[in-house]
Amino acid sequence: MRTEIRVVEGEHGEDVLEVTAVDVHQTKLIELEVSRLLLIDALTGLASRRGLEQAWEERCAEGAARMAGEAEAEPPQAWAVLAQIDIDRFGVVNAGLGMVAGDEMLRVIGERLRALAGEGATVARMGADDFVVLVSGLATMADAYALAVQLVGSGAEPVRIGVRDVYSTVSVGATLLEQRAFGSGARLDEHLAEAHVALRAAKARNGNCVELFAEGMRAAAQSNIETHSALRHGIEARQFVLHYQPIVDLETREVVGAEALVRWQHPTRGLLLPSEFIPLAEETGAIVELGDYVIEEACRAAARWPAGPRGELTVAVNLSARQLLSPELVTRISRALESSGLAPERLVLEITETSVIYDLDGAGWTLRLLAEMGVHFALDDFGTGYSSLAYLVQLPIDRVKVDRSLVAGLPRTSGSQAVIAGVVGMTRAMGFHVIAEGVETEDQIDALNGLACHLAQGFLFSPPVSERRFLRLATRQSPVG
Ligand code: C2E
Ligand code: MG
Ligand code: MG
Repeated sequence: MRTEIRVVEGEHGEDVLEVTAVDVHQTKLIELEVSRLLLIDALTGLASRRGLEQAWEERCAEGAARMAGEAEAEPPQAWAVLAQIDIDRFGVVNAGLGMVAGDEMLRVIGERLRALAGEGATVARMGADDFVVLVSGLATMADAYALAVQLVGSGAEPVRIGVRDVYSTVSVGATLLEQRAFGSGARLDEHLAEAHVALRAAKARNGNCVELFAEGMRAAAQSNIETHSALRHGIEARQFVLHYQPIVDLETREVVGAEALVRWQHPTRGLLLPSEFIPLAEETGAIVELGDYVIEEACRAAARWPAGPRGELTVAVNLSARQLLSPELVTRISRALESSGLAPERLVLEITETSVIYDLDGAGWTLRLLAEMGVHFALDDFGTGYSSLAYLVQLPIDRVKVDRSLVAGLPRTSGSQAVIAGVVGMTRAMGFHVIAEGVETEDQIDALNGLACHLAQGFLFSPPVSERRFLRLATRQSPVG
């Protein structure tokens, strides 16, 4: 209780002593509650940025006390780990399944991180899907590293959202520090920046992994930032070109179609392959714009191609997860078909298991709508992912592309033979086409013929080439390769 006494003027001009008693207890409680709430992230119940800062300050104060000899001496080689964790392609979940699903995913991943980090750890959410874990008091550097590795496990299992299982992985960037650094004023912002640089390196490796900070990473992180802004500019400046790789009938060696593969004609770095910019474009969302351009350009090109020796040539376009989950995909594709005049039957969209697995139901609807228009679907890179043919029955797919890693095992590796034979057998029974990717030798062709696989693509016939060179191959009378 707080009392205030002051003199005020009374009704008849006399001085009146006014005594006010204020119940500050209530106000204090509210203040305490507010400052407590500021330390907590409302969505996940984890620490907030402010909470992490406070936990860091506490460790620094303890460290300083130890150095001054006021506390029990530091064990000689204690370590701490500061890790930044980010959900891979979280934007895809949020955009495709909605914010409620996104929030649920954040809560579940946050809870898993808390369990993996263990007691005494600080687990914070800094915003969006950006989590930070701080653990100190680890006996050895190896323990600190092992803990960072464990955090990747928070994305190992799918997250149940409503009635569906959503698959997602996480990337971890970690910096390890000696515990005694807290005593000499270690700065949170500096170590967070290190963890962030390591996180970018983990993302560049396609995620689902951990990277430890090393000085040399800073330069690479800078070049990534530059690539990102150059990417947006490159789309506007039309610096992207399509190359076409022929798809060949193995019996007659005639070209039946092509896969369109995007390249970036970079003004200073020369011709860049997809591996140098697609992962970044996927992460930032620029892939949707870039993908639109690829679809339009591929349709425009194919519409002007003359027929090949085996009839009209098909054109295959790769789709990424974000494009598949974009509600506008169907409109974009029908517009591209309409404006180019390309018959829908000549367009093949290549999808991968990882791109549909985020939302099998949602992707299923999109695919069925497009399939009804006449567009075909191919399952790309088969043999690299979960490789479950169960998808084939759920989705309107009518061709499967066997990944180059399996084809490379031919003719000697019996595992590759068995898998390819199995895929060919099953899919042919279902009326599908099987296309072998990355065929480089005649031996492989013999093996494929033996396995009754009749379509192929690979350097033996031709690498991806300009449209003009592709057409020369596609229209010639003699066999290719
Ligand atoms: P993908 O769809 O599996 O494409 C086949 C890749 O294998 C191409 O690499 C091609 O050049 C390469 N390749 C073909 N035959 C052979 C061979 O005999 N030996 C070897 N060693 N390699 C061969 P590229 O052009 O670098 O494309 C890589 C990946 O980038 C593609 O894999 C595809 O997933 C992605 N990609 C390319 N263009 C696009 C696009 O427009 N949009 C999206 N979302 N992804 C794209
Ligand atoms: Mg492909
Ligand atoms: Mg492929």
